Amino acid sequence: MNDVLTIPTGVVNETLASLKAAGVQRHEGVVLWLGRRERAARVTVVEAYVPDQEADDDYFRIPPASMAALLRHLGETNTFLAAQVHSHPREAFHSRADDDWAIVRHLGALSLVVPHFATRTVADTFVTHCAAFRLSERNSWDELSDEDRARTLQV
Ligand SMILES: [Zn+2]
Repeated sequence: MNDVLTIPTGVVNETLASLKAAGVQRHEGVVLWLGRRERAARVTVVEAYVPDQEADDDYFRIPPASMAALLRHLGETNTFLAAQVHSHPREAFHSRADDDWAIVRHLGALSLVVPHFATRTVADTFVTHCAAFRLSERNSWDELSDEDRARTLQV
């Protein structure tokens, strides 16, 4: 069964603020949602974690030292990487680089993309505006339908 994520509005607002700040510099941004599993298929997102990142207007990277810091933080906070969220200058889609460089890699992992450097999105419109992709058993990133996205992401 696929996970349903409960995301506090505060976490969405922090995520959007970080993506917008990167967008002001014409850079993509990436925020990692750290969660705790409450029970089977129910995950609560408890933190919007902004890793040290390198980015330009069409890509982002998380360098090895930043990945190591993330792993330490996950251990210290007893959380796991529930989803990654990144911004695009215009349309929200999963690029080839996004497929290859995704930080989340477990089966059922979620990768969300927010269009227009998040400048047109607020917490209330987040789920409508973003595109969401889930890693399948075939190791492909499949886009969620509008219905599936609304069911999976509960702000
Ligand atoms: Zn991308």
